[in-house]
Amino acid sequence: MLKPGYCTLCRSRCGTLNVVENDRLVAVQPNPEHPTGASMCLKGKAAPELVDSAERLLHPMRRTRPKGDADPGWVRISWDEALDEIAGRMADIKARCGAEAFAFSVTTPSGTPLSDSIDWIERLIRRYGSPNTSYATEICNWHKDFAHAFTFGCGIPVPDYRNAGLILLWGHNPSNTWLAQAQAIAEGRQNGARLLVIDPRETALAREADVWLRVRPGADAALAMGLANLLMASGRFDLGFIERWSNAGLLVREDNGRFLRAHDLEASADGAPVAWDETTGGPRAMPRVTEEVPSLRVALRGRFTIMTRTGEVACRPAFDLYREACSAFTPGLTAELTWVPETDLQRAADLIAEAGSVAYHAWSGIGQQRNASQTERAIACLYALTGSFDAPGGNRQLGKAPVRAVSGLDLIDPVQQAKRWDWTGARWGRPRKAGSWPATCTGRSCRASPTGSRACWPSAATR
Ligand code: SF4
Repeated sequence: MLKPGYCTLCRSRCGTLNVVENDRLVAVQPNPEHPTGASMCLKGKAAPELVDSAERLLHPMRRTRPKGDADPGWVRISWDEALDEIAGRMADIKARCGAEAFAFSVTTPSGTPLSDSIDWIERLIRRYGSPNTSYATEICNWHKDFAHAFTFGCGIPVPDYRNAGLILLWGHNPSNTWLAQAQAIAEGRQNGARLLVIDPRETALAREADVWLRVRPGADAALAMGLANLLMASGRFDLGFIERWSNAGLLVREDNGRFLRAHDLEASADGAPVAWDETTGGPRAMPRVTEEVPSLRVALRGRFTIMTRTGEVACRPAFDLYREACSAFTPGLTAELTWVPETDLQRAADLIAEAGSVAYHAWSGIGQQRNASQTERAIACLYALTGSFDAPGGNRQLGKAPVRAVSGLDLIDPVQQAKRWDWTGARWGRPRKAGSWPATCTGRSCRASPTGSRACWPSAATR
């Protein structure tokens, strides 16, 4: 019997056909009918060996000797016994000490076969009422999904490789790590996409790239700033996107590095950020609805002295600060820092500028050093210059099926949420999700941010 499904053994989630004989999984095959089922790796094909492993735990076991004893004295018990005992203890702890006394620890759905279970585990935790959950994440995950959220308001969106003018792979080798992406890249290449690979290692995709930048490990942020400098110095970036969908025009105070706010100018005003209106020649509180922005002429460069409630303050647009920060990364300095020859830097900048649309993915290679978060932000800002965010052939914010989340944070009572503890015992406040960081940006379609604001340049204040 062939049972369609998908492989849960890594992030690729390859579509599969599972061969079942006498209620036993005997083989796993690619399912070409599935969007991610064109191929499988050997790990996925070896899934029956995992299922049948002699070392696999198949039944609940109860310890009968004290912890620390060389022999735990494991005794097999039934599922009913195990569930009753665990549920009884959980109920007892909750009754005596409160649900917050029960801390959960959850592993990653990327590095384990947990992807189809994690929502239900989280539902259990939240319905139980504990605000205390310790999550594990991979070294490749934080910068990809969370550092991007600091800049975009969301994790790295889905690359539309099949329709891209340029495919940019930065520290990412999908041929080995994400087969579904590798398949989409192959199709994009057949459709005419050019390929830019940034990787110290000569991967198979690096060998076939139009340009391969063999960056010095750990120098990726300098490379991103240097490439951005080349694009801006030659005026080859999407100014319309920057004006409409980023916080480029918002004024940053020189005295404290924070955004100038409307309430800095008038006590009765709200906290809306302020830009310099070139039409009126004065400061203007910016609307949060992006549709109003195209009718405004907002300064992206310059230095403006503005009378606030506490006196004159000099301010500059966030984009001006970003441009200045990037300008320090001249081709010569960037080549020295990154070991990438100046001619290759220029070739890469030309590819990006001429692409029309850029689909990119930056992954594990970025996460192998301690500056991964800011590196990812530098890459995200470089990407914003292309104007490809959520555009066809770029990285898309795809619509999700309109289903009610089974594990929403609203399942925890606000009183319980306030009882969240960190490692030091200090309270952290209510849990947040990536899209709710208070001052990050959103691009064209990332609506999660309560600020409803736009893409954030890293040099700008974000509070
Ligand atoms: S790449 Fe391999 S392990 Fe990952 S989902 Fe596909 S078959 Fe499974």
